[in-house]
Amino acid sequence: MSDRAPSVFSRIIAGEIPADVVYDSERVIAFKDIAPQAPVHLLVVPKTEEYANVGELAAGDPELLAEVVETAQRLADEHADGDYRLIFNTGPGAGQTVFHVHAHVLAGGLTEGSLV
Ligand code: ADP
Repeated sequence: MSDRAPSVFSRIIAGEIPADVVYDSERVIAFKDIAPQAPVHLLVVPKTEEYANVGELAAGDPELLAEVVETAQRLADEHADGDYRLIFNTGPGAGQTVFHVHAHVLAGGLTEGSLV
């Protein structure tokens, strides 16, 4: 259990906040980013709020990290041409604002500048 307050993503997972959900499995959910930085901008989020960032997730549950990456690939195939950027912002200095690990999937007409 986490001692952090529920993240905005936990509230989406609990159904307390609406989201445009594109994938939902036992352990992973994906939805459209509310402030898209590319033509396709999805967030792939483990449902557990145990891990704040990708390093913690890799150390604690590598199979769940693999499911996040596999989901990103599948969604890039479905929503774009299969090419995508996968970004895990880690720490405030890197722009992370939600401390519930999530992968940004950016795809579709990417330009050099479309980094989250
Ligand atoms: P940053 O805000 O710098 O991108 P993060 O890497 O922590 O930092 O990403 C959080 C992402 O969550 C942002 O891209 C933001 O637009 C998105 N977001 C925040 N609230 C919601 C929401 N209710 N529904 C969908 N996406 C959201």
